[in-house]
Amino acid sequence: MQIENLSAVEIVAKIKSGEVTAVQCAEHFLGRTGELNDANGAYLSTCDAAAMAAAEAVDADRAVGKTLGPLAGLPVAVKDGICTRDQTTTAGSKMLSKFVPSYDATIVQKLKSAGAIVIGKTNMDEFAMGSSTESSAYFPAKNPWNHDHVPGGSSGGSATAVAAAMAPVSIGSDTGGSIRQPASFCGITGLKPTYGRVSRFGLIAFASSLDQIGPMTHTAEDAALVMQTIAGHDPRDSTSAVDAVPDFSATLNQRLDGVKIGVCVDHFGDGVSESVRAKVDAAIEVLKALGAETQEIQLPYTKYAIAAYYVIAPCEASSNLSRFDGVRYTNRSAAANLADMYTHTRGEFFGNEVKNRILLGTYALSSGYYDAYYLKASKVRRMIKNDYDKAFASVDLILGPTVPSTAFKFGEHAADPIAMYLADIYTVSANLAGVPAISIPCGFDDAQLPIGLQLQANRFNESAILQAAHQYQTQTDFHLRRPE
Ligand code: GLN
Repeated sequence: MQIENLSAVEIVAKIKSGEVTAVQCAEHFLGRTGELNDANGAYLSTCDAAAMAAAEAVDADRAVGKTLGPLAGLPVAVKDGICTRDQTTTAGSKMLSKFVPSYDATIVQKLKSAGAIVIGKTNMDEFAMGSSTESSAYFPAKNPWNHDHVPGGSSGGSATAVAAAMAPVSIGSDTGGSIRQPASFCGITGLKPTYGRVSRFGLIAFASSLDQIGPMTHTAEDAALVMQTIAGHDPRDSTSAVDAVPDFSATLNQRLDGVKIGVCVDHFGDGVSESVRAKVDAAIEVLKALGAETQEIQLPYTKYAIAAYYVIAPCEASSNLSRFDGVRYTNRSAAANLADMYTHTRGEFFGNEVKNRILLGTYALSSGYYDAYYLKASKVRRMIKNDYDKAFASVDLILGPTVPSTAFKFGEHAADPIAMYLADIYTVSANLAGVPAISIPCGFDDAQLPIGLQLQANRFNESAILQAAHQYQTQTDFHLRRPE
């Protein structure tokens, strides 16, 4: 048995039955991480001692017959923008290179309480701004399918860790696509839950009206398992929803008879590569054979989604990042007076993409411009949401490619930020509308790079997404393939 090829569901079952121990599992993934991280750049730090202690505790509980938590012994990698107690949390920035939180984010606390073992913190674009991990202040993560290509971003390290089997499960955050786009590029499954479904207490905020935390796994079944632990209301996050959390695994095995899937014609535009189009078309046939009915639908205002997103997200970022000023949390530059201390600190420790966003956001929010930019973008956002409401009146799911292309090469978009921003064209709408969306592997292009299929559902209907994704994965093996 090769532990790294097991799914999360299998790992948890084998630890419960005693076939493997939690210590063996943690050692195995930490060992792989030690061997592979230099080449893949997936982790910014690992939690070896704490992970081994937690794994020993799981094995000790089992030995005395205690009931184990639903994720007992499951190694999990957590994006470095999520606070972990006593473990450096940098958000991919030099600003926070020495920041050691005194508390766990709610999601981390929930994972640990369920018995999961946090093994390390994954690489990311600085403050989650980017689509390639090239803006990480440390080093880029690599796409395990081909190291000349980016893994996507901003949760690129989380995607690389799972794709290279350096962790069976990772946690990412998604503001405009940062779970789904790297999942697509790396050939794994990534779910952005409904806005408000998962607590963001302890997530270092990028754009608060868009940010959401979610699981990155090999299978939809694993995503359902992790969601069961991390979803639900949190009094410490006032935006977290009070809606009841369903049993996400209960409906996975139901066929798709009667399920109505809207094929979004607006998501098959000119920019979509031939291989992506062909594989997504093939996926539609698989879903039909499982009983689903398809019809064409339109989301006409989503053509403005990138424009609206790249106003709203930088505006909110400029406000959220004002707390990094050299006084609390952060590194501090030497200066003769307080004003210089602020400016030198921010000038020295923020990277270029972050400065870009802060400048854009500050400009758009400044007096006299607010109405023309933020307010206007918010109105467009409402029209996009209305598009979704209309579509979900007649379909259960919306289908399309996650990204128009497969993973691009390092440096390919370096001179042209707009080209990089366009990688988010099909993912940002779900954040603007607050709906859940998944990316699952649906094939490979001629260069053997993975292609992702996106499924979106109405708010709080992750179950429909997970069911369709799981059913698709019973008929296909793209999610089982591994890079060499
Ligand atoms: N690529 C998008 C951006 O740069 C989305 C990032 C994210 O979802 N965190 O803003």
